[in-house]
Amino acid sequence: MNTHEYQAKELFAQSGVATPAGKVASTAAEAGAAAREIGGEGLVVKAQIHAGGRGKGTFTNGFKGGVHVINTAAEAEDIAGKMLGQTLVTHQTGPEGKLVSKVLIAKSVDIKKEYYFAILFDRASSRHALIASTEGGMNIEEVAEKTPEKIIREFVHPTLGLQAYQARKLAYTLGLTGKLANQAVKLFTSLWTLYIQRDCSLVEVNPLAITSDDQVVALDAKFNFDDNALYRQKDVAALRDITEEDPREVAASEYGLSYIGLDGDIACLVNGAGLAMSTMDIIKFHGGEPANFLDVGGGATKEQVTAAFKIILGDPNVKGILVNIFGGIMDCDIIAHGIIAAAQEVSLTIPLVVRLEGNNVEAGKATLANSGLAITSADDLTDAAAKIVAAVKAA
Ligand code: GDP
Ligand code: MN
Repeated sequence: MNTHEYQAKELFAQSGVATPAGKVASTAAEAGAAAREIGGEGLVVKAQIHAGGRGKGTFTNGFKGGVHVINTAAEAEDIAGKMLGQTLVTHQTGPEGKLVSKVLIAKSVDIKKEYYFAILFDRASSRHALIASTEGGMNIEEVAEKTPEKIIREFVHPTLGLQAYQARKLAYTLGLTGKLANQAVKLFTSLWTLYIQRDCSLVEVNPLAITSDDQVVALDAKFNFDDNALYRQKDVAALRDITEEDPREVAASEYGLSYIGLDGDIACLVNGAGLAMSTMDIIKFHGGEPANFLDVGGGATKEQVTAAFKIILGDPNVKGILVNIFGGIMDCDIIAHGIIAAAQEVSLTIPLVVRLEGNNVEAGKATLANSGLAITSADDLTDAAAKIVAAVKAA
């Protein structure tokens, strides 16, 4: 799960991570009021979307930049009015962009230097890692590719946790000394505590800024939270903004389905992530393109399969469906009845190939064959992929 910058900064403020004061606004008038409340000159208006690269982004109406430094409440109102209700395209949103429905008005700071700082789970070392760079405010993937020596890492011991010397080492390696190093260490340590307490899988501050009056502050804020821990992070779960998520993925999660939309035309409905991936591979091997990754998990009830069909059919690109279910513990015949009921409920008109394997598979295949529906049975993965690719090409 992700959050907006304004929400991330509220968590920062609660945890003692230095960040400029700000207020969120949903209308231009609210933005003006927020600017007056924060007061003084030097404010920044920032479009709130679940994507970075806003500073260099462009709105589809031609307005440039999702981050603007301004001086008066009137300007705040004007700029907010140009952002709200508009679509912002950045290198992270894809060409379709994202609708801006909120802006953050924050105290602007005078930046002396920008750094990059993040904490994330590093799969290669199976450890949490603190990542920092003197190349702040830039696209970090690009820095990693072109100048990998400019990225520094500190890996955290799983039981000892972050050690004070590690935070100091990171600050010194960034070239910070004295009071600035102390501030940076405090910020790294506070962020580490926040990261662990809230079950984060990423917290990224880009840029972490040194101001002209020598303060270390987090200017941008991005979180990823571990979805599997949301049950015990109720106040984090409350920050979820489903309007930022793919509506198909939201619908899928309500039925315990894992769904990821892709660009092809053959929808896959599979139980188990490994089987889902091999199904996508074999579709490609036979010259087809998968339209999605859809895993019904351990079960495959009629309700789940019906929900899955509805989500799949919501994608206008889908020209055929391949169901690939391995009935390990589950009875294939029960699954077959579920597939038939689901196909009837959604009045399926596109080709459907079903490959069942496992417990009571013969009865399951007979049930499909006797259904009177245009369901093609397949014997194995290769047969299934060849049949659905052929059916879609013929359609
Ligand atoms: P992103 O482009 O979506 O990553 O948004 P950021 O919050 O990182 O803002 C982009 C850039 O705008 C930063 O790298 C800064 O250079 C600049 N910026 C952001 N906040 C401020 C601010 O308070 N004052 C000034 N002067 N510049 C800012
Ligand atoms: Mn940023």
